[in-house]
Amino acid sequence: MSDIEKTSSQKDDLVSLLNQCDRCGACTRVCPLYEVNALDRATARGKLALAKAYLTGVIPEGDKTLQEAMEYCLLCGACSEVCPSHIMTADAMVDMRQRLGQKYGYSLFHRALSRGMASRGLRALGRLGIAAAQKMAFPRLTGGLLPSDPLAPSTGHPGPALLQSRERPTGGRSLPAEARQLAYFTGCAMGLFFPKAADASVRTLTAAGFQVDRPQVDCCGLPQLAHGLADTAKALAKENIQTLEAYDLIVTDCGSCASSLQGYPALLADEADWALRATALSQKIWSFSEILVAAGYHPAHRDLRVTYHDSCHLNRGLGVHEAPRQLLTEATDYIEMDRADRCCGGSGSFGVEHPAISKKILALKEKDARATGADVLVAECPSCLMQLGKMAGDGLQVMHLSQVICPPEEGI
Ligand code: SF4
Ligand code: SF4
Repeated sequence: MSDIEKTSSQKDDLVSLLNQCDRCGACTRVCPLYEVNALDRATARGKLALAKAYLTGVIPEGDKTLQEAMEYCLLCGACSEVCPSHIMTADAMVDMRQRLGQKYGYSLFHRALSRGMASRGLRALGRLGIAAAQKMAFPRLTGGLLPSDPLAPSTGHPGPALLQSRERPTGGRSLPAEARQLAYFTGCAMGLFFPKAADASVRTLTAAGFQVDRPQVDCCGLPQLAHGLADTAKALAKENIQTLEAYDLIVTDCGSCASSLQGYPALLADEADWALRATALSQKIWSFSEILVAAGYHPAHRDLRVTYHDSCHLNRGLGVHEAPRQLLTEATDYIEMDRADRCCGGSGSFGVEHPAISKKILALKEKDARATGADVLVAECPSCLMQLGKMAGDGLQVMHLSQVICPPEEGI
């Protein structure tokens, strides 16, 4: 099939998907953007109508506002959960961003973000700068714009976590027999902003009986794919497949990375050999909480009141909902918050590009989190932690799941 034929058949596929929207409006009830700013163009219904108008020639070529409209989406997937036609609006937006980016170019910000995250050298340099700034209390001074990386709470911890029996029902996947060596996938945000939390994850996995390797990996490709830079995302996916495919288990404590790694088969679907390797890899990807529950890990109890925020990618993307709650219920006095699965408004770079709207969505989350009376708000995704960290203070800490269920560091 020639490129032109392929492009045209893909366009037909997207148009037929968009045609399935009957404008029922169910998506307006759950879209966080609509909740804080009731404009129809914020909703799945509005954006799908705009995309269809462009693809069928109703909107003229070269209309720059269309690109902005397609970027105005958290990719949270809440709309798809309630859509009677099961339209995956987030996927449609990513598809449109790629089409429009290839045609009209990408913004300087998205190009810089893509290159910066894709480069190991730039990430290492960034880590040095961020570590220095975090030490100098910049997180506090910048009002949470630069997130802090708090130590795990040490009070009320009776000792190392217990590594135990396998008989507890997980309700989820089973570990392959005898698989005890794993690759810990250090995502960009964990490595750059939350290295103490990443260390806590490794300590926890080790305490659960795994031999943990930390291979040098590349960015998972999600920031690039989300902004339509699919070619860069594909190149990163191939690098990661080569690095990781020798392992039987690959674990990440980043909900976004987990979902992105699981999505490699779809990303590489056009290249048969790579698609096969990507499919084999995707079956070995585990989220942090999921593998701990499957391994029968029992965290020690801490005297903490904790509530939990669902990462959209982990919850809706991978269906990991119970595992973190099971661990937190055992480790703490757990309290479920209202609408724990509402997006926090961070969504990668959305919070930087739309700060006012992002702040309003975060305020809804803060109200629900504080209403629980919790001491700690926990998430299993550094992307969420970067956003949620802005509300820390006044008796509420924000932490990664690993920091609450890990065994203590030696000497603490
Ligand atoms: S819920 Fe689905 S079908 Fe209904 S308006 Fe939204 S996108 Fe369209
Ligand atoms: S993916 Fe989220 S932000 Fe985007 S339209 Fe759907 S509900 Fe709204």
